[in-house]
Amino acid sequence: MNPVTQADILASQSVGSLEDEQAEVGQTHRVFRVDRQRIERAVREILIAIGEDPDREGLRDTPARVARMYDELFGGLHEDPRVHLRKFFTEKCDEVILVRDISFNSMCEHHMMPFMGKAHVAYLPRERVVGLSKLARVVEAVARRPQVQERMTEQIADILEEELGAKGVAVVIEAVHTCMTIRGVRKPGSLCVTSAMRGCFRNRPSTRAELMTLIYGDRR
Ligand SMILES: [Zn+2]
Repeated sequence: MNPVTQADILASQSVGSLEDEQAEVGQTHRVFRVDRQRIERAVREILIAIGEDPDREGLRDTPARVARMYDELFGGLHEDPRVHLRKFFTEKCDEVILVRDISFNSMCEHHMMPFMGKAHVAYLPRERVVGLSKLARVVEAVARRPQVQERMTEQIADILEEELGAKGVAVVIEAVHTCMTIRGVRKPGSLCVTSAMRGCFRNRPSTRAELMTLIYGDRR
């Protein structure tokens, strides 16, 4: 589910006591880890600074809403992505394992604006193999924090390489940055592509070519 939408839904439902809110949050298995009061104060300040009236009806609950949303968007800061790879099984496998089109949302740390797209994560195992959904969990945990796409790509590759001891790891990320599409150079539709290649994906052109065909296939 799109996290922004989910946050909005949560926010729009949250009228009532703090207990009610916490019960509601409990239902979605979320615990607040950000300093909400501090975010609320800061957002109120921003509203005043741009010349708005933070006490008008439409804005009255905005600081609290943003605080709840930030807890979700930055939840990865309080999570170790490596835990998802600690449950592996040993398998003789000499083929590339790829999970393509893992959608993610992250927050550009330069502008605090979202960037979103798809990650393709592949590895050639030595003997450790993990469940496919775990690769998506790693992407999620690394995405939900203030990020830059280049670092995010490297981090995912490093974590996989270190935890799985794979013969090779490849991460390709394609993303749209709202800080580029709605402000600054304003280039809607522009896609930033980054990649991190380790081991055989870096050293063996044939393995890398095989991966690119698996990722892009007829799309290229
Ligand atoms: Zn940016």
